[in-house]
Amino acid sequence: MTAIDVDKNWQLLINGEWIDPAEGTYDVIDPATTQVVGHAPEASVEQALDAAAAARAAATVWKKTPPAERAEMIDRLADEVAARCADWVPTVQAETGALQRITETLQVGGPAVDRFRYYAKPIDLDESLAPVPVEKGPLGPAGLMSARVKLQPVGVVAAITPYNFPITNVAGKIAPALAAGCTTVIKPAPQDPLGIFLLGEAVAAAGFPAGVVNIVNGAGPEVPAALVETKDVDMISFTGSSPVGSRIMENGAKTMKRLLMELGGKGAAIVTDDADIGAAAQAIATVWGFHSGQICTAPTRVIAHHDVYDQLVETLKTFSGFMAIGDPKDPGTIVGPVITELHRDRVEAFIKAGTDAGATLVCGGERPDFGGYYVAPTLLADCTPDMHVVREEAFGPVIVVMSCDDDDQAVSLANDSDYGLYSYVFSGDTNRAYRIAQQLETGNVGLNVIQPHMEAPFGGFKMSGVGRDRGKWGIEAYSEIQSINWIG
Ligand code: NAD
Repeated sequence: MTAIDVDKNWQLLINGEWIDPAEGTYDVIDPATTQVVGHAPEASVEQALDAAAAARAAATVWKKTPPAERAEMIDRLADEVAARCADWVPTVQAETGALQRITETLQVGGPAVDRFRYYAKPIDLDESLAPVPVEKGPLGPAGLMSARVKLQPVGVVAAITPYNFPITNVAGKIAPALAAGCTTVIKPAPQDPLGIFLLGEAVAAAGFPAGVVNIVNGAGPEVPAALVETKDVDMISFTGSSPVGSRIMENGAKTMKRLLMELGGKGAAIVTDDADIGAAAQAIATVWGFHSGQICTAPTRVIAHHDVYDQLVETLKTFSGFMAIGDPKDPGTIVGPVITELHRDRVEAFIKAGTDAGATLVCGGERPDFGGYYVAPTLLADCTPDMHVVREEAFGPVIVVMSCDDDDQAVSLANDSDYGLYSYVFSGDTNRAYRIAQQLETGNVGLNVIQPHMEAPFGGFKMSGVGRDRGKWGIEAYSEIQSINWIG
């Protein structure tokens, strides 16, 4: 494992070449220490457009490259990431503020390598329709109409991504996009972009043709906004907040962008009166402090049957006592910092809005004094559906709890949200949990389980997004559907 080279000259990857950023650099900060991790390259709008033009020029060749050859290159990329990722740990740990063990297992290698491997095979989703007889008419002769339905690559995809799990997120986008035959421009989040340039080094080593994968960066909205507006980009694959997602939809309308939008979440966790409360609380608590709550799929809106409400709140409070806050590099730490000072202030204001509105502060709320941007795991009980803390996401270690009288009320409280990404049902009766799950307006539901099936389609209802990826849906997301018709 190498140490962090704070003075490394990070460059943009455009058309297969490493290029100096036209707008200089800005400092990337370690949220645990507030020290500088590196100087991130700041592209100009012109460089963003150069990257899009390079991806456009490469699109014809990449589309014609046989799927088996594309798959071979994606597999080589998986090899390169697997071989290099241990060296990426110090930089990615410091810029994301993630725990050391989370960085080693989930940030740099594992899931990203898995996603490249999964799509490193030709996936044939084309199909033939059953021939149908047609009569002679004004449009042509009688005969048997046949059609083949083919998936064609969308073209150039701009992947605009959030902070939290930068490499995993980008891999989840470019792996299916490249496999589908698309070329890409990556624009990582400004807070933790350095790992994406390390990923770029693996891309270069894997031997992709120039322009197939490009990486630009910028601290402000200008660079990603240029990618949204240019005609050289056909599709925006965006993960981030719902307000920015709305802006992208609006600005992309002029060029009729294809959109995959993975947005915010405010996951409900319904706990029925027959649930194993210890197991439910443990599952909820696992994600409560995980990456300091900066997880879009976290069950942060707990809806508990009144018979088990007090026991659940008490058990969650007990779990908070085991969630050691501190230096993410310390193996005993469970909860590290949130990403920036601004975000720490936002989460603190969010908690205050809850207590001001009458929520009971069961634990947390104070600012831990470790020098970085820390927020203690916070539990707000006695919440009501109208409260800001119930309606909006904190993207921090904050859980709100509401009481319900029966399953119908639980469902209606759960659905009383603008969001609909990932919800959970904890019940001792799987049939009952399944019945509840089918009524939830969310793209994904976990029954007595937090971890997802990685090949199941992923995405949100309502303000949580548009479209689905993962598994075969990943290929569909980056494809246009074409029908070829003939008569015989
Ligand atoms: P954000 O929306 O602030 O930023 C995301 C990206 O959008 C960044 O790369 C940013 O530079 C870019 N951006 C900013 N303004 C833009 C504009 N005008 N046009 C185009 N792009 C623009 O999100 P964030 O703070 O980085 O991440 C947190 C959010 O992401 C939370 O809402 C969280 O729920 C969501 N998220 C969702 C998922 C999911 O899979 N659904 C996963 C992780 C995070």
